[in-house]
Amino acid sequence: MYSITNVGGAPGGEAFLLVTGGKTALIDSGFSYSAGRMAANIKDVLQGRPLDYVLLTHSHYDHASGSAYMQDAWPGVKVAGSAYAKKILEKPSARAVMREMNDNAARLAGVDTYEDRTDRLHIDITVSDGDMIDLGPMKLQAIAAPGHTKCCTAFWCEEEKLLLSCETLGVDAGNGVVMPCYMVGYGLAMQSVEKLAALGAEKILTPHGSLLEGRTCAEFIKNAVYWNKEFMRRAAAGVRSGKGEAELACEFKELFYTPFMAELQPEKAFDLNLSYTVPMLMKEIRGN
Ligand SMILES: [Zn+2]
Repeated sequence: MYSITNVGGAPGGEAFLLVTGGKTALIDSGFSYSAGRMAANIKDVLQGRPLDYVLLTHSHYDHASGSAYMQDAWPGVKVAGSAYAKKILEKPSARAVMREMNDNAARLAGVDTYEDRTDRLHIDITVSDGDMIDLGPMKLQAIAAPGHTKCCTAFWCEEEKLLLSCETLGVDAGNGVVMPCYMVGYGLAMQSVEKLAALGAEKILTPHGSLLEGRTCAEFIKNAVYWNKEFMRRAAAGVRSGKGEAELACEFKELFYTPFMAELQPEKAFDLNLSYTVPMLMKEIRGN
């Protein structure tokens, strides 16, 4: 038996606490400014039990910034993520972007002060594709799923048919729309999307979302595959008809930056991601 609880400290900084009969793990760790609230939420669920792991699906500021605060609250907690995520989290230029994006998110949430611990972000356990994290009664297999970032990792529990997904598969934008999150490469992202879709998950924890089971799980995966391909199809048609980067960006934003998404992601962060996605797509379309 296990439970999964959204313990995120603020909308957009979702993090999920997985409690098993053995070890406990936090999936992603949210923003810096809301880490204090997240720690309190975790303590409420754990009732004195320790937090054993933080499993990072990738190194973006809204997923990884809270880890340093968790290591202060639970000194024994080990942060796990891919080798590429480790490299990014230790890189001064990436830390500067994380700090800036965290400040922006805090400002939008009306938070003036919070302690910045970005320089202490790191990964203790590097996981590669196929590596196992042993939570006692539950074993999680790391699945490399690059596409959103190079460092994206999903976690898979075969016995429970449970997929702890990452953003490469996409983010639920509401009404059956799943927003593609490819920033590194379309072909690369689709390989990962197909790999995750083929696992046969019966339950899926979606990033920024919730635990979907049964039919809603199957629909999310089907919609994720559809929208990942569909936007590329539309972009390719657009490029063939002479559309430029700004026009395609506009089209992407209209489709996917729904009011539902706006609750989860500040416009500045959305635009920053888009500034990688559209030129990347255009490059792949022109190269094909
Ligand atoms: Zn991300």
